[in-house]
Amino acid sequence: MSSASFFPWQQQLAQDWLGNRERFAHAWLIHGLAGIGKREFALAAAAALLCESPEHGLACGRCLACGWVSHGNHPDLKRIRPEALALEEGVDEASGEESSDGSAEPSAASATTKKAPSKDIRVDQIRSMESWFNHATHRGGWRVAVIYPAEALTTISGNALLKVLEEPPASTVFLLVADAPDRLLPTLLSRCRRLALPTPSDSQAKEWLAGQGIKAADEWLAASGGAPVQARRAAQSEAHACPLWLEGMMQNLQAGHAFDLASVADTLAKVPTPIWLDALSRMAVDLNLSAHNLGPRYYPGQEKNLVAVARNSDNKKLSDLGKWLSEQSRLGSHPLNAKLFAQTALQRVVMSCQPASKSL
Ligand SMILES: [Zn+2]
Repeated sequence: MSSASFFPWQQQLAQDWLGNRERFAHAWLIHGLAGIGKREFALAAAAALLCESPEHGLACGRCLACGWVSHGNHPDLKRIRPEALALEEGVDEASGEESSDGSAEPSAASATTKKAPSKDIRVDQIRSMESWFNHATHRGGWRVAVIYPAEALTTISGNALLKVLEEPPASTVFLLVADAPDRLLPTLLSRCRRLALPTPSDSQAKEWLAGQGIKAADEWLAASGGAPVQARRAAQSEAHACPLWLEGMMQNLQAGHAFDLASVADTLAKVPTPIWLDALSRMAVDLNLSAHNLGPRYYPGQEKNLVAVARNSDNKKLSDLGKWLSEQSRLGSHPLNAKLFAQTALQRVVMSCQPASKSL
């Protein structure tokens, strides 16, 4: 997919939305389920807004502006995202330029300070837009700022952006992207029109994944909660839709075997916390579904183990486990070191997966 195209489930909405530019709002909040391609949608929308000869509201892919966008050097397009995310995308934020091989080279400045790349959108990133607003746009067209994820705005940078949106610069469109609009400043929300992006149907998502060459598309799609772009990312970077450590743990739990919690914690400490925490949360959802005789949502391949574990567990404990895990995911940051936190979470799982009478 080129940087300027929409996913199939976004096409119609994009055409309807971008085709009507007479009274196009200057600030949009693009929201929807995580992993359905919201960032790609916003970037494709930016390309469409900057294109010199849009077709049905979408970018032509052939004009000078489209060329600049695809090379990441259109002067009227800014991506505002945390430095850590920019590095993941292969861009050196200090120079603002994409390195030729797509990998991120540490800049001289970051090499000397050795500070961990920020996960927040910093206030100076918002303030740096001011000089940009003062430059005339290319051929008098639009200027587009894509801000993602909007949840990464801090109170300070969020308020700085609010000030900008209160007196919006001419010919400028702000596209904010968020999974969870309720985490944004209400005042900021009130300045944006909302655009909800659709989640594709299961069959549409599976068809698209198959077209991307993903095998066992239904397993990956289930493990990603029905979000196809996340499913593709997972299938391309992971070996199994249900991680092996999780499958092994379920097997031990259903057989009532003790297992080496410390070695699983070792494995998890090497994985980014949100990833294994999500996997555990999903397993807890499936256990709770199984406890109520419902089929698993995320790990259908584990149904036998899930049913066996749920049957031997106290429903109240399973429900508390689910709440605790989703609370931990929501908090996002964890006070303990990675391994200690993994151990705590695993202990909690073990203690929750046993009958009410038994306790450690
Ligand atoms: Zn074009």
